This record gives sequence, C-alpha cells and structure tokens, in this order.
Amino acid sequence: MIAAAVRPLAAERLPLAAAHGRVLREDVAADADLPAFDRSAMDGYALGADDDSARLRVVAEIQPGAAAAVEIRRGECARIFTGAQIPAGAGRVVMQENVERAGEWITLRRRDAQTWIRRRGEDARCGEVLLRAGVRLGAGEVSLLAQLGVVRPSVSPAVRVRHFTTGNELVDPSATPGPGQIRDSNSALIAALVAESGARLVGQARCGDALEALTDAVESAGADWDALLLSGGASVGDYDFGARALERLGFTQHFRQINLRPGKPLIFATRGPQVAFVIPGNPVSHFVTYHTAIRLALECLESARPSWPLAHIELAEDFPAKPDPRETFWPGHMAIRDGRLRVRPLAWQSSGDLRGLLAANALLPVAPGTGPVPAGTPVPVLLLSPMTNGE
Ligand code: AMP
Ligand code: MG
Repeated sequence: MIAAAVRPLAAERLPLAAAHGRVLREDVAADADLPAFDRSAMDGYALGADDDSARLRVVAEIQPGAAAAVEIRRGECARIFTGAQIPAGAGRVVMQENVERAGEWITLRRRDAQTWIRRRGEDARCGEVLLRAGVRLGAGEVSLLAQLGVVRPSVSPAVRVRHFTTGNELVDPSATPGPGQIRDSNSALIAALVAESGARLVGQARCGDALEALTDAVESAGADWDALLLSGGASVGDYDFGARALERLGFTQHFRQINLRPGKPLIFATRGPQVAFVIPGNPVSHFVTYHTAIRLALECLESARPSWPLAHIELAEDFPAKPDPRETFWPGHMAIRDGRLRVRPLAWQSSGDLRGLLAANALLPVAPGTGPVPAGTPVPVLLLSPMTNGE
C-alpha cells in the first residue's frame, strides 16, 4: 500500500561528492570501452606475441599517460610500465622480474602463459549500461561514476522529514519530570533513525494533546517537508488526535491499523506528494514501525527499490516467544562469535522499555501463534543496517 501510494520526489543533479548515499535516477552507460585502450598490467617489456628471439633490443620507453607512438617489430621490445598503452606490434608484456637487461638489450628468463595485457573493452563495452536507476550510490558506485565522467549525476534529494510529538505528559529530556510526566525520548529516537536513513530532519516540536494545537503547528510549519511524522495519538482514545488532525489537514488515509506487535495503531496517509504517519507513542512501537513501514515510504520517495533484507540466522539462545494473534517484530542483536553470525532476541518487558532497543541491529519477525524457539534454530531476521538497493 505504501509503494502504491508514494510518488518519487523530483530528481536533482548534484556534484559527485554530494551524491554519495543518494539514489541514482538515471541509467548510466560507459562512454567508451573500458579500458579504452590495451594497457600493460605489469612493469616490464612489451614485445611481439610470438617473438621467440634470443635477445631483444629496447627501442622505446612508454610511460603511463603517454601515447605509444612506436611500432614494435620482431627482435624489438619497449620498456613499459603498469597502465601504459601497449604499442602497435606488441602482443605480450614480460614482467621485469623475468628479464635480464644489459644496456639496450634484454634476454627473457621466463615466459608466462599470460600476456599481462588488459585488453580494450575487456571490462565493459562502450554503451553498456553499468549503473541502473534506483541504485543507492555507495563508494564503489561514485568511483565508477567518476571513471565514466559523470560528475553531476541525477539523484533523489534527501527526504525532508518534519516530526511532531503529541502528549500532555511529555517534558523536554533536560527537565525533571513532575508528577505524571515523562521525558520525551521519541524525538531523540526519530532524529537518530532519520539520520541513519540519510533523510533530513527539517524540524521537531512538541505539541500537547489538543486537535487545534496540532493542526496549527503542522500548518504553521509551512510546506518544506516531504514526510510528516506524528508521534503518539494514533489510537482511538479521547485524546488521540492524530487521525482527526490528518483529516483536517486534507490527508487521505490509506490504513489506520496493521496486524503488528508492537505498533498496531499505525496510520499512513498522503496529501499530494506528501506522506504522513501517525506512530503509536511507545518507543519500541516507534522503532518497529519505523523499520517496517516508515523507512519503506522514505525509500519510495527516493525512488529506491524498497529493501526488505530478510535472512535466516541461527538463534544464539532460546527465544521465549509467546503465541500472539499478531505478527511480532522482536528487536534483536546480531553478533559474530567464532566466525559465525548469530542473533539474540533482546529482553523486552513492554513497548515502553527502551532497554529492549540497546544494540538492536535486527528485528525478528514472529508469525502469529508462534511459541518458544530453541537456541540453534535458524529464524528469519530483518537486518537493520542500511542495505544497498542494487542487484
Ligand atoms: P499514545 O500513543 O499517545 O497513546 O502513547 C502511548 C505511550 O507512549 C504512552 O505511555 C505515552 O506516554 C508514551 N509516549 C508517547 N509519546 C512519547 C514520547 N515522545 N516519548 C516517550 N514516551 C512517549
Ligand atoms: Mg498520547
């Protein structure tokens, strides 16, 4: 439903350095054969492919960056270095370790079967598409763009996120809570999750539980955002104003609940190109719905292929799952021990217990009705570290 409702943001052209981490919006093809000319793979001597002369005269020296202007004939060779152009008439390079040189003459101590020549077009042919639209640009991708001369690639802008918390009980984390109050931890959580996604938080504010105040706050924030996140007030209590606020603001709701634990009363809505979520206030619900739904909407805005990196990983210890009618996404910690990746379900008392998120780098989807699972069993695990959306 998210993928069907979300339209990609308009692409922009950015300098290569600024494009790192963004999603590519155009196919990129090789502008020439790669390599563009036959090149030496070694420091050594270039000679005819079948030249079996007892000794050869060094008639030229070819450095990388120079055009190979000579033609090598039988009994001749050229001193050559790694990356330099192979001269006409040469069909192999003999590495310098296998050569005895005396003045302008060489004799070969050994001939390898390999020619030590990187042939023109052996990596890619001119016109071959090497990067597809939708891929996220990592280190390898930006360096390939540089190699292809694409210095201002078309990419998606960073998604602009605006976040409001609701809740009369909330105080700033710097304050000491009075009776009945708690510190706002979701603002810090959302800011961190948004940063991890490569999105840009354009503003955060706390509103109380009043419909008027919430709609005013969103309206007066202007339209400089692509995704609106409202924390709390997602449910059906008297003071849960999320759904009503979105309605007043002209949003269309696509779903109001999902069969998920924690995080059931998640609301997803759109208004033209903008998306909005009302997120159940509990911190663990925030974490789970962010990774299972909100992140996917941000990826759709970026025109990335939505990623769902699910792997089967062995349980490091017994998993005390209790059968539940909803699908549960249980925070977990993957770690490598003795060279093997294992996952440990994190202790999690309630959806307000933030200790259940310490070191969380995975979510374990638990199908409805599933009971305890013993250590050593491979279980499905949703990886939370950013994944490249390429093939
Ligand atoms: P709600 O979804 O508004 O019913 O909130 C559910 C629970 O999450 C309540 O116990 C709230 O106090 C708590 N909660 C809501 N917002 C926050 C927040 N920003 N930081 C910490 N806890 C919150
Ligand atoms: Mg509330």
